[in-house]
Amino acid sequence: MAALFVMTYGVVAVSYPRQRAAAWFMGSYFLGFLTPVCELMIRFTDHVPIFSLLGYAVFLGGILMMSVGVQAFAGRRPAWRFALLVWIAGIALRLAIWGGARGSMPYEMLFQLPFAIASFLVLLAVRRIGQKGLIRGLLMGIFSIICGHFLAKPFLAISLGSGASAKVYANSVYAVASQVSTGVLLVAAGLCLMLLVIQKALEESILDAETDPLTKLTNRRGLNRIAPRLMAEAERDGRGLYVLVLDLDHFKRINDDYGHATGDAVLVAFARLLETLATRDVLTVRMGGEEFALLVPDGESAPDAIDNRATRLGRSIRVALESFMDPGMPRLTVSGGVVRYIKGEALDGLVARADQLAYRAKRAGRDRILHDRSDVVPERNIVWPETARLVAG
Ligand code: GH3
Ligand code: MG
Ligand code: MG
Repeated sequence: MAALFVMTYGVVAVSYPRQRAAAWFMGSYFLGFLTPVCELMIRFTDHVPIFSLLGYAVFLGGILMMSVGVQAFAGRRPAWRFALLVWIAGIALRLAIWGGARGSMPYEMLFQLPFAIASFLVLLAVRRIGQKGLIRGLLMGIFSIICGHFLAKPFLAISLGSGASAKVYANSVYAVASQVSTGVLLVAAGLCLMLLVIQKALEESILDAETDPLTKLTNRRGLNRIAPRLMAEAERDGRGLYVLVLDLDHFKRINDDYGHATGDAVLVAFARLLETLATRDVLTVRMGGEEFALLVPDGESAPDAIDNRATRLGRSIRVALESFMDPGMPRLTVSGGVVRYIKGEALDGLVARADQLAYRAKRAGRDRILHDRSDVVPERNIVWPETARLVAG
């Protein structure tokens, strides 16, 4: 089982290198895999002390490595030095009780204590995982049980008898009970961790696919997924939803005159400007090239109000652009359109209406944002150019 986990986490670590926890988990289960190998060596070879100590060290190392992995997964700095210290202290403790009375409570307690501490460290790390939910809760439960189970083992050892020597132990009922219970719990933990890693990988890859790599804004694919939800919410709550489309004016000239890298930097700076001016409930999208769209919920404005949140936002963007470029560079301006979502309208139609207004703004001389009041007429998806008005400029 442990070997299968090693392979599975190995595949995840290679195909998903950003998630460094997977490599730690691979290491952890590799050490876990070596533990029964050491137990077998105790049983079938004469090097009992070496394999006893080695088995102890790899098993303790495996749990500690899991705690480091969970820290990495939770986005914390992995405290591997601390884990190493606990590992060394654990081995020192094991050596200190080497000749102790097997089957006595102090010996069995001190034997299990480092494992209980290591699994408690995993439990603490799991508590820090941001993804709250069933799987994290399950994992916390499993590590609470694992921790308690190490503390309960001395009692089991005393009632079942842990054997007079390591070799006798390896053949004892206690050894079977102890290894099966630990094994089952660690398999359950490994599966839950795998679920968390996969869940996070999927979430991250969806986010990647929906993020524009240059500006880090939501891209059109993200818009296609998120906008229907905003539209349904607006319909359900009877609130307004506006689309503000913005296209930078004469952007090609910036590329031509200052180079593509400067063009990129302007796009990034413009994206940051949009994020700064828009509130958190506004979805800011790079539609492609130098065209942006903002989905602006507005619960207050009357349906036919020209002075709504989207037009005010458009105005503040235009004001901010006045001092946007470095001295010596031409002023950057935008052309755009604002439309209000009409109940039942398709996203494409909604964006197309805003696009057409932006196009009209271009033809009217650029550096302006037009507002359309086509939402007050019953027909859907119809642009009424004669109702388009200048909001500013
Ligand atoms: P208009 O005022 O009519 O919108 O003129 P424009 O020059 O802004 O529009 P046009 O569509 O003619 O050119 C858009 C330019 O945007 C051309 C393209 O090279 C540039 N562009 C698109 N995407 C990027 C990008 O990611 N980085 C850079 N640097 N330029 C880009
Ligand atoms: Mg343009
Ligand atoms: Mg354009």
